Amino acid sequence: MRRITRPVKVGKITIGGKAPVSVQSMTKTDTRDVAATVAQIKELQSAGCEIIRCAVLDEEAARALKDIKAGIKIPLVADIHFSSKLAVLAIEAGADKIRINPGNIGSDLKVKEIISAAKSARVPIRIGVNAGSLEKYSGRQRHEGAAATAKKMVKKALSFIRFFEKNKFEDIVLSLKASDTLTTIEAYTRMAKECDYPFHVGVTEAGTISGGTIKSSVGIGVLLHSGIGDTIRVSLAGDPVEEIRVGYAILKTLKLREKGVDLIVCPTCGRCGVTLFPIAEEVERLVSGIARPLKIAVMGCVVNGPGEAGGADFGIACGKGSGLLFKNGKILRKVPEAGLVRELMKEINKLSKS
Ligand code: SF4
Repeated sequence: MRRITRPVKVGKITIGGKAPVSVQSMTKTDTRDVAATVAQIKELQSAGCEIIRCAVLDEEAARALKDIKAGIKIPLVADIHFSSKLAVLAIEAGADKIRINPGNIGSDLKVKEIISAAKSARVPIRIGVNAGSLEKYSGRQRHEGAAATAKKMVKKALSFIRFFEKNKFEDIVLSLKASDTLTTIEAYTRMAKECDYPFHVGVTEAGTISGGTIKSSVGIGVLLHSGIGDTIRVSLAGDPVEEIRVGYAILKTLKLREKGVDLIVCPTCGRCGVTLFPIAEEVERLVSGIARPLKIAVMGCVVNGPGEAGGADFGIACGKGSGLLFKNGKILRKVPEAGLVRELMKEINKLSKS
């Protein structure tokens, strides 16, 4: 069962409460370059990104948020380190949420300045406690177990929460990320018992597209499966659009969101009579823009293919020279191999016209 959390509004998106788990990303452009940043956010929007975060390194970047916001449709989050002034400027520029680590802002007084500006503008704050930002996180402590590090992260997050609450600010989203998947799981799981603030969940600096996808899928997946997580960010060293694709794939796998196509592809075996992978990749490319939830199968043989892809809405089972096109488990027709993908897409496109 999903953990009960209080809802926090970030622009038009709600994090927590009964809102669906949202998928977010972070731009990789220089925030001062408004045109490049808006272009990247538009790509992410088209891929389904629901909240976007930009790094704010200086005053020019903070002010640029105003123009960036004017060019995009999704809520904009300012990622701030070390400076209360930048946080206040970002709020003035229209940021829909601020992400800070209160531990590196400088002093309680400076954190209070951010709280006060956020309160007046009704802007929520994400308190981000990363394992790497823990004081004394060096030397021997780097090798301590996941539980010990997670315990420290939770202790730190709780002290920040108490400070925010003492200053009458509860519009909080919380994150406790580590680059180690087990530490991340442990930290969120412990924290879930301590408060009802919604969680932004992710494994930080997870890695390259392939390695990071595995780490994130395990970390975020385990947490979501135990009911923990209200918004997710998959952190990948690659095109941020991949972060969105992987994010939705995790949610789709756990049946938490139904957006887009679930592509089933058989791994092939000795029965496969075609070069299946380029066919699957072509189908993947052609269906990538479909928002409607659909299960589509690309199978390597006509003997077992239709049966193995039992639950698919549409599918092709490839054979040598020809293959079968099927819909809802029933064979529609036999099609020459060269026309299989085209005929599959024809059937799928009929749906959008129906
Ligand atoms: S669908 Fe056919 S080719 Fe693919 S794994 Fe199953 S038996 Fe092998």
